[in-house]
Amino acid sequence: MSTPARITHFIDGKPWHGPAGRTGPVHNPATGEQTGTVDLAPAEVVSAAVRSARTAWREWSGLSLARRSQVLFAFRELLNARRHEVAALVTAEHGKVLSDALGEVTRGLEVAEFACGIPHLLKGGYTENAATGVDVHSVRQSLGVVAVISPFNFPAMVPMWFVPLALACGNAVVLKPSEKDPSAALALAALWKEAGLPDGVLQVVNGDKEAVDTLLTHEDVRAVSFVGSTPVARYVYETATAHGKRVQALGGAKNHMLVLPDADLDLAADAAVNAGFGSAGERCMAVSALVAVEPVADDLVARIAARMAKLRVGDGTRGCDMGPLVTRQHRDKVASYLDAGVAAGAALVVDGRDTAVDADGEGFFLGPTLFDRVEPHMSLYTDEIFGPVLSVLRVRSYDEGLALVNANPYGNGTAIFTNDGGAARRFQNEVEVGMVGVNVPIPVPVSHYSFGGWKQSLFGDTHAHGTEGVHFFTRGKVVTSRWADPSHGGLNLGFPQND
Ligand code: NAD
Repeated sequence: MSTPARITHFIDGKPWHGPAGRTGPVHNPATGEQTGTVDLAPAEVVSAAVRSARTAWREWSGLSLARRSQVLFAFRELLNARRHEVAALVTAEHGKVLSDALGEVTRGLEVAEFACGIPHLLKGGYTENAATGVDVHSVRQSLGVVAVISPFNFPAMVPMWFVPLALACGNAVVLKPSEKDPSAALALAALWKEAGLPDGVLQVVNGDKEAVDTLLTHEDVRAVSFVGSTPVARYVYETATAHGKRVQALGGAKNHMLVLPDADLDLAADAAVNAGFGSAGERCMAVSALVAVEPVADDLVARIAARMAKLRVGDGTRGCDMGPLVTRQHRDKVASYLDAGVAAGAALVVDGRDTAVDADGEGFFLGPTLFDRVEPHMSLYTDEIFGPVLSVLRVRSYDEGLALVNANPYGNGTAIFTNDGGAARRFQNEVEVGMVGVNVPIPVPVSHYSFGGWKQSLFGDTHAHGTEGVHFFTRGKVVTSRWADPSHGGLNLGFPQND
């Protein structure tokens, strides 16, 4: 077993070489081996990174849009060329299979491509002669230093939801990735530097609650983009807004897939398996609750179970379908839901603890698990399990299924499977969820639309990327100007009226 490598911060354009202080372990989840030791930044290190970013922001925000876009285009080319390297880092620390890791890098790349159009996205409005001799125009300007705090499950894509747009809008960014799999974020920061981003404009500080709390309360941090579990998202939102910051805090999820009796059941079964067990269920858009409108449940459960038997579980570098969970602790927590489900009376159709695993060592594996006859009061349903556990709930009608989805406190993603266009149209109108799929199980919006849930899946008003992202990372200013003959001056204390 080799000595774990030190993983440190990336500050002012280079790896940080100060004293390590508190550290945390980073594992290869497929083997269970500790491969890295990540520095957990104390408040002083985070504060220094923010102050330095503030200095770098002044110059960066003053650069022409042409110069800023050149950096974005260069980054896009570099990441496209090195996407396999970044994906390999994701697999090594998160555990998801390589093809899936490449998919997440590619979806992140889409946001960089969207950000390349920033000159167009930042165009303001202009009104000539709004009043006699008076013109009005609007601009959007950068905020300053913004913080991005990301979760373990998309170590490349989630930072990419925010960083390219925040930079394109002229901000400096302090990124705090998950301490469980920090290397992909560091690799991205190195690519930004290679693309020509000036030192200090993107800082990566590794850390835990201490680093996050410093960012949420620092006077020079203007906005916070957070993604993680709902309790932490709520805490981040409340703390950072209390300190005067603009916040978008994306939280957890319980995503439902509603299958109507007229649906193509093979399509629905494929979708349930793909969306339930891809990335070992560690996706905020994973389907964890399949709501079957009777009489299709028996048939659907049989089709899903047959497909699950074909899945290969193991080390993500070996061409398997599904990898391990991120840590041993998380694996054990997810496994505890299997006992709880059985004790509560749900029917355990496929037990992931029995799955054969293709990996060396003591990886954090739990195979795909299927429960039938799950009831809304069971912890299988009430909790976000965030693992490869799919629960089937049986309902008698579309209305009963819709009511179930809408009563759930989360509202991230949902999908309906049907061949009835009218039912699908009703669902997309009536469901209280931010992202809806029609015969599409994981409806992650493309980068020119915005990503975000409703209810306890998002605190704040603004979703990620797309034009909402541009608005989040800028503030508007309206200029009213008159270039009139000086003889038109004169005193008038009345409120300005347009004529
Ligand atoms: P997490 O909430 O444990 O951690 C997220 C970030 O917050 C990490 O950077 C972590 O270091 C930090 N953090 C953790 N505890 C903290 C605390 N007490 N105070 C301050 N900071 C803290 O989430 P996770 O386990 O890394 O990620 C999985 C969660 O993220 C799931 O709930 C998932 O649904 C959610 N998620 C949501 C979306 C979305 O778009 N809504 C996307 C991805 C993941």
